[in-house]
Amino acid sequence: MQVQYIQVAIPVPMRQLFTYQVPTNLQSPEVNLGERVIVPFGGRQVIGIIMAVQDTCDIPTAKLKNILARVNDPYKFTKQLLHFLRLCADYYHHPIGDVFQQALPVLLRNLKQPDVSPALEWCLVNELAQNEIDKLQKKAPKQVALYQLFHSRKTHTWAEIRTLGFTKSQLSALQNKNIITEQVRPIKKFSWQTGSINADNRLKLSVEQAVIVAALQGSIDQFSCHLIDGITGSGKTEVYLQAMEPVLANNKQVLIMVPEIGLTPQTLNRFEQRFNVAIYLHHSGLNNTERLETWLAAQRGCAAIVIGTRSAVFTPLHDLGLIIVDEEHDNSLKQQDSFRYHGRDMAILRARQLNIPIILGSATPSLVTLQNALSGKYHYHQLLKRAGKSNTAKIELVDVAQQPLEYGLSSNLKQAIKNTLTRGEQVLIFLNRRGYAPAINCQECHWIAGCQRCDKPYTLHQGKQLLICHHCGSQKRVPPQCPGCGSVRIAPIGQGTEQLEQRIADLFPDQSIVRIDRDSTRRKGELAKLLQEVTEKKHQILVGTQMLAKGHHFPDVTLVAILDVDGALFSFDFRAAEHMAQLLVQVSGRAGRESKPGKVLVQTHYPEHPILQDLVHNGYGHFAQQALVERKQAWLPPFGFQALFRADANYPSYPEKFLHVIAQNNIDGCEFAGPIPAAMEKKAGKYRFHLIVQAKSRKSLHLGVQQLIQLIQQNEWQKKVRWSVDIDPIDMNW
Ligand code: ADP
Ligand code: ZN
Ligand code: ZN
Repeated sequence: MQVQYIQVAIPVPMRQLFTYQVPTNLQSPEVNLGERVIVPFGGRQVIGIIMAVQDTCDIPTAKLKNILARVNDPYKFTKQLLHFLRLCADYYHHPIGDVFQQALPVLLRNLKQPDVSPALEWCLVNELAQNEIDKLQKKAPKQVALYQLFHSRKTHTWAEIRTLGFTKSQLSALQNKNIITEQVRPIKKFSWQTGSINADNRLKLSVEQAVIVAALQGSIDQFSCHLIDGITGSGKTEVYLQAMEPVLANNKQVLIMVPEIGLTPQTLNRFEQRFNVAIYLHHSGLNNTERLETWLAAQRGCAAIVIGTRSAVFTPLHDLGLIIVDEEHDNSLKQQDSFRYHGRDMAILRARQLNIPIILGSATPSLVTLQNALSGKYHYHQLLKRAGKSNTAKIELVDVAQQPLEYGLSSNLKQAIKNTLTRGEQVLIFLNRRGYAPAINCQECHWIAGCQRCDKPYTLHQGKQLLICHHCGSQKRVPPQCPGCGSVRIAPIGQGTEQLEQRIADLFPDQSIVRIDRDSTRRKGELAKLLQEVTEKKHQILVGTQMLAKGHHFPDVTLVAILDVDGALFSFDFRAAEHMAQLLVQVSGRAGRESKPGKVLVQTHYPEHPILQDLVHNGYGHFAQQALVERKQAWLPPFGFQALFRADANYPSYPEKFLHVIAQNNIDGCEFAGPIPAAMEKKAGKYRFHLIVQAKSRKSLHLGVQQLIQLIQQNEWQKKVRWSVDIDPIDMNW
């Protein structure tokens, strides 16, 4: 036998494959693409993935190393997935090894072979009588809720139970009462049966919904991209559910991508209640073993449905028939560091590769998607009415320029809160700034406590008695006196959610107030607990950040107050208005979901601002079309295409020089903007610069970026800076 040569992708930030020899003793069984191998690299042993196998090689054999071993386990990449990951790497001009690194479950990146014990599930074995349920309801309502979960669907894994907001002790309680029992989760290939659907739960579709479901059914076996543009509560989820039916009935798998599962457990619940098929999860709340289980179940065809966050797009679903991306406008679908991919865009790429349909859903579609729908590239479906009885909440602007505010609240707003509470309904107050105050200063010499690594003020976290930099995470004790003049008159400036919570408590001493932001929900299970308490009406007032804007269902919240939207009206970032409009509409979607009418009050200093006026009077759709007209005139996305080169270094001149050298090049069809200092010019001690590349066609952009990357490899400055390229950037603040 002859020596074989293989090209291997290795998890290192280099844009190339590495060639190794396969010694004859390792050549059988046959070497396949997508296999993992252990190779020597820079004095270490690393896991690599075989991307090509060849019999000859141009490199002198003396320079080549042998692979050390082949990993022999069931976790293999199919050609299809390899091809997809390669497409992703090419699209983002990102090192292929790093793409694998991010797309692979952690346990498959280790040299040690994963030792995975069989997965467990819990199964209902005994029913409770009604009087037992009533008795338990008084003592332990959560146990009853968990019992009901099992009642409507007989088996659940711990990952599901946890994601739905239940605790281990609630699970154990039911197990000790002999209501449920633990068993090994069977590994069997998914196949559709009569009992696979709970047809009783199916809702009778409205005409609007039925038209969409019919259209989807008509395009089930080829690539097509569908936007469902439907206001909150218009029944998009019901459309997804019914569109999935024929796909599953055909024994094909469905991938559902959502921005954050932990925030919207009720969505998961609805899929579980409808389909009695194996559902697997993929999100950050799972441990490594659970993620590997999902990966394997998908590949073996055991998983009928995978529900996950952005990286679920890389799940090796063996026989995928439909992809659904819910809340497609949500920026958390885009990864903001290292491999900066957009989960939605890669999902579209995957659907195209597999020649299957994909559905994008949103109440506030991104301008990119909307333009594709309006231009006829995607199928455009609208749901204009809310399903059921409830009405959309009305948005009203409150002019705060002319009136004094008490703790950030206008008198109109205070009155509206009082009225709502008097009716026994709940209030949501939205402030997108966590912490107690965004800065502290000395009232004598005006010194401001700032993070020196970022040149930005520290945020005061009163509860922890800490100053925390929200940009680099560094922390400091609150100084007892001013380091400049020694004065002890140090005071907070501005207001964050922590302070707002206290002030609201002062204003409404008889009410229970709950704060929901990243700080108050850091502990595992805390968010689910707080959300549950809100639903149970243990709290009357909710104070929170944009975490609260996402998909929750608060039946009794009838007033939503938004304290501050003005920043976005005058931002340098052309996307700020789009994001603000989405946020505003999404937040207002939280109000009045049941039969009670809802109201949204937006405090602003600029009530006459055309963007706000347009949103209030004409709605998101009209605003979006206006915004598209402006983007078109300026050749901005989605009409132009952008890539953002970022560079940082310890000295300010380095990244600027580096980007300047790039910008000197003449690239066909591409224009440069910059280099300019990043919005956060200094972060964690590094100086940061941006260079934007713009083109009128995607093809020119990609060719241009490719050329630039080659030129960078020869640029001597590249060794002095850290640089990256972001294709279709959405956040220029980074
Ligand atoms: P969205 O996903 O657009 O926010 P949902 O699918 O969650 O909307 O629907 C909102 C509410 O309306 C849910 O309580 C759902 O059960 C109900 N609903 C949806 N479609 C129908 C229908 N065809 N008939 C009656 N109720 C419906
Ligand atoms: Zn001072
Ligand atoms: Zn900092």
